Amino acid sequence: MLPNATNTEFSDSFPVMEQRMPALFVGHGSPMNAIEDNDFSQAWIDAGKRLPAPKAILCISAHWETPGTQVTAMEQPKTIHDFGGFPRQLFEMQYPAPGSPDLARLVQQTITSTSVSLNQKWGLDHGTWSVLCRMFPLANIPVIQLSLDQTQPPEVHYNLAKQLRALRQRGILILGSGNIVHNLGMAFYSDEPFDWATEFDSMAAVFIETRNHEPLIHYQKLGRSAQLSIPTNEHYLPLLYILAQQQEDETARFFANGLVYGSISMRSIWIE
Ligand code: ZN
Repeated sequence: MLPNATNTEFSDSFPVMEQRMPALFVGHGSPMNAIEDNDFSQAWIDAGKRLPAPKAILCISAHWETPGTQVTAMEQPKTIHDFGGFPRQLFEMQYPAPGSPDLARLVQQTITSTSVSLNQKWGLDHGTWSVLCRMFPLANIPVIQLSLDQTQPPEVHYNLAKQLRALRQRGILILGSGNIVHNLGMAFYSDEPFDWATEFDSMAAVFIETRNHEPLIHYQKLGRSAQLSIPTNEHYLPLLYILAQQQEDETARFFANGLVYGSISMRSIWIE
C-alpha cells in the first residue's frame, strides 16, 4: 500500500531521530512558581538545561478539560491567565512560543482509538506556561496542548497516551503538568503535610519506581489516602499520560519532590 501523502507530509516535519526524547511529568503547584525562585522552579530550570533540545512540545495540562479529545492547532497560541487573586506580575506574564499546526495534525493521525479535533481557540494555560517559562525561557520551541476528555475513565486516558510514544522518537517532548496529590479544599498555608497526603505520595512513588502502573490507573481502589489526594482527577490524569510513555528499557526517576500547603505534591518524574 502506498503511504498516505498527507501522513507523510506532517511526519516529515518531525523526522525520526536516533535519540528518544525523555518524557516528563511536572508537579506544577501554584502559578507563583513561574515568578518565584524556589526549589521547584530551580528543578524546572535545571531540567530544561539537561534535556536535548526538543523539536516541539506536546503538553497535557490539568487545566484543559473538554468533552472529547482536542489538540491546539493555531500558529500562535495565546497565553491564558486562568487563575485569580495573584499579583499583577503574573497576569502580565506572556509565553509567546509558536504553535505547530503540523504537530497537531500528526497527533490527530497518531491517536487512532478516538477522533481528536483541532482546536483554534484555547492556547497555553498556566499548567503549561508556568512550567515552560522556567524550562525553556526563550519561548522559541513550538508548543501544543492536548486536552483531557472529561467524559473518559483513567484507563482510557492511559491507553490513549500510549499511542503517543512514537512521537518521542521524532524529537517531541511530551510533558504532563498536574499534581499527584491535589486537594485545594484542604490546602492551608503550612508546610506540614497531611498524613494521607504523605501516605499517597509515597505509595505512588513506589508504584512509579517499580513500574507498577495498574494500581495507579485504578487509584479509586487505593483507599482513603487516594480519595483525599484525588478529590477530582484533572491534576492526576496528566501523570497517567506520562507513565504510559515508559518503555521496556526505561526507568522513572524523580527530579523534584515535596508536599506544599499540606495537600499538594510537587513530585516530578523523568522517564528515560
Ligand atoms: Zn493546577
